[in-house]
Amino acid sequence: IITLAIESSCDETSVSILKNGRTVLSNIIATQIEQHKKFGGVVPEVASRKHIENINFVIGEALEEANVTFDDITHVASTYGPGLVGALLVGLSAAKAIAFAREIPFNGVNHIEGHIYANFIEHQELEPPFVCLIVSGGHTHLVYMKDYGEYEILGKTRDDAAGEAFDKVARALGLGYPGGPEIDKLAKIGDKEAIAFPKAYLEEGSYDFSFSGLKSAVLNYLNSQRMKGNPIVIEDVAASFQQAVIEILVEKTMACAIEKGVKQITIAGGVAANSGLRQLLGKKAEAHGLHLKYPSLKLCTDNAAMIGCVAYYDYIKGYRSSLDLNGIPNLKIGERH
Ligand code: ATP
Ligand code: MG
Ligand code: FE
Repeated sequence: IITLAIESSCDETSVSILKNGRTVLSNIIATQIEQHKKFGGVVPEVASRKHIENINFVIGEALEEANVTFDDITHVASTYGPGLVGALLVGLSAAKAIAFAREIPFNGVNHIEGHIYANFIEHQELEPPFVCLIVSGGHTHLVYMKDYGEYEILGKTRDDAAGEAFDKVARALGLGYPGGPEIDKLAKIGDKEAIAFPKAYLEEGSYDFSFSGLKSAVLNYLNSQRMKGNPIVIEDVAASFQQAVIEILVEKTMACAIEKGVKQITIAGGVAANSGLRQLLGKKAEAHGLHLKYPSLKLCTDNAAMIGCVAYYDYIKGYRSSLDLNGIPNLKIGERH
């Protein structure tokens, strides 16, 4: 099976060609970060327009790099949610048009499931079951993945996503967009014990998260230091904030893995690129005899290869999407249409 997969849910236009779901022949990513930087975040209308400008070119590049033509494509896939509806519709419409014109099967894919499957591309031998911590720009989920396409959600954020907290704190520190990588960089040189920010563990035994209190605490700290005329060491703020986030993430992920009795833990989504998170979770997992797996940086953030991988496993399980599939901005993990 040769899949052509499209991702356009946010600010990356990406097209990938895969062989049997796990062998990536090409994975072209056109990012719009430069266009959105001056606004400090993604502007939905700008994103949709840029996707329209880019999509045909990116499809062409993906075919060329994979050294295939449309005649070789036997299956087509696209993200249909969650994401910005105008952005989703661009990739989805292109994929449906290809499926219709070429008379080949089509699978709509959940973007967040895609982030999990980036691990299957990175680690060819990886198989479920495992516990996955999904930490992206808009989502924070702890998921028990029993089998391909079977998920049990153990916990999620009640307010801000982890990546969102990184981006908002970065903005308050006057750092560029996206903020996660900038904070990660500064945290390496700052003192993570300099400032004691509050960590919300919520009720005993809960696997949910809350990051808005932490974010407010950082903003309050910055305001009060400025009012008092005290200096702000941004490396220390970055390091202390990052430490608070990752300690909560790591503690709850470990507790889930132990409760479920799994041997493997995976992480996924843009914040899975965070070096502090990888290190601390890696150390704790090893101490419990568990294996931690994560995707390379390119596969952590949005890309179409991860979407093609989900589509392949859905396809071999017999699922097909109809050509009237619509974009669903708030699509949930495990939901099917
Ligand atoms: P979603 O997948 O929830 O729809 P998204 O696609 O915008 O949202 P991703 O592309 O998965 O999100 O990830 C982007 C997020 O990852 C941003 O919030 C960014 O700040 C964060 N991020 C990227 N690299 C790092 C890093 N090294 N440390 C922390 N956060 C990071
Ligand atoms: Mg993005
Ligand atoms: Fe994403």
